[in-house]
Amino acid sequence: MKDRYSRQMLFPPIGNGGQEKISRKHVLIIGAGALGSANAEALVRAGIGQLTIVDRDYVEWSNLQRQQLYTEQDAEKRLPKAIAAKNRLTAINSTVKIAAVIADASVPELEEWAQNVDLIMDATDNFETRMMINDVSQKYHVPWIYGACVGSYGISYTIIPDKTPCLACLLGSVPLGGLTCDTAGIISPAVTMVAAYQMTEGLKILAGDLEALRNRLVSFDLWKNQFSAIKVDPLKKGDCPSCGKMRSYPFLAFENQTKTAVLCGRDTVQIRPPSPVVRDLAALEKVLLNQGGTVHRNPYLLSYDAGSHRMVIFKDGRVLVHGTKDLSEAKSFYHKLLG
Ligand SMILES: [Zn+2]
Repeated sequence: MKDRYSRQMLFPPIGNGGQEKISRKHVLIIGAGALGSANAEALVRAGIGQLTIVDRDYVEWSNLQRQQLYTEQDAEKRLPKAIAAKNRLTAINSTVKIAAVIADASVPELEEWAQNVDLIMDATDNFETRMMINDVSQKYHVPWIYGACVGSYGISYTIIPDKTPCLACLLGSVPLGGLTCDTAGIISPAVTMVAAYQMTEGLKILAGDLEALRNRLVSFDLWKNQFSAIKVDPLKKGDCPSCGKMRSYPFLAFENQTKTAVLCGRDTVQIRPPSPVVRDLAALEKVLLNQGGTVHRNPYLLSYDAGSHRMVIFKDGRVLVHGTKDLSEAKSFYHKLLG
């Protein structure tokens, strides 16, 4: 088995010692889309000890262009991404302990996970979740690596608690926002590039070579041939509510959390019940069949097509309403069918 990682161990900054450290580390990846797939595969091939991968979505045909872990079969079966990812990752490296979680990363879970991991990899598609990750990272002293891409543009930054500025420090000072996959689309090399930055920084942290960290916010546009690396140390704020002296971790507060959200680029609204429920999908299938329309069920979710809208119901009660961006329209469709 030693041979498996021999080329990585020959690389002097990692060596035997670094590999040994990597093999004992646990990484949490939030999101199993394009960035999550790329990072998860790289970590598993590198011989990470444990991986927890969290995703709320399921595999669709439009994912296959850039989400490297998934196959046509996964899309046909509408497998949850976390499950499809785990299947593929286990086939790649069966020695890694992999936990697949089908869920929206909410505060209580994030707080629990953060206490058991060495690194959090951001592969989410929204800023709200990133700010929650940023707060748990500070609260539990776990480094995290921000990454985002859209079109041919990508951005990445490594946050080390008590050392670097956090994401909240950078808000308003550097162009972090404005990213949406809604209209701009995306090409896969932008994903690969961001994942390469994230993964390299991740390896440095896991192998214990913090001196080698980049310490810069890097961004690029592959199509326009642009690149920049900004030194952001001066932006660390003493009064930052997330990493400053008087911390309140504002993004962990309940009132700052949305329970209904429009999903980026999907013409889809997600609705999350206030507390987790366990849905009997088989019973629900019977009810929905009586309404007309088509129903498709697998062990993890139920998909219902009513013509105007399509709804996907997960076992934990979470619902995706496809075919609208209107929150109230989605809610009324939801309540009409599920009470
Ligand atoms: Zn801060």
